[in-house]
Amino acid sequence: MVRGRIIVDTERCKGCGLCVAFCPKGVVQLADTFNAAGYHPAQLRDPQGICTGCTICALVCPEAAITVYRTFSIKTAVADGVCVGSVS
Ligand code: SF4
Ligand code: SF4
Repeated sequence: MVRGRIIVDTERCKGCGLCVAFCPKGVVQLADTFNAAGYHPAQLRDPQGICTGCTICALVCPEAAITVYRTFSIKTAVADGVCVGSVS
């Protein structure tokens, strides 16, 4: 299955909270710390690994401060019955 994660460029982030509000999984939050400009930057807090890599957070970010990465696990896909073929 597809798993996602995000990297936030904390110095570009203005702490507007749009990514926090729009993440359908609720795994983005504003940090308690400040960046150099004095904003609380967004960060991924996803201990259960439920980020899907949907890219909504990156699309709504007005500062283009979020990069989304996706990984696809063949092993997990087979276990979930999604992938039944073989990969060579
Ligand atoms: S990629 Fe999607 S699920 Fe992951 S943090 Fe961004 S909005 Fe949330
Ligand atoms: S939408 Fe962008 S600028 Fe706003 S808090 Fe999220 S990462 Fe920071």
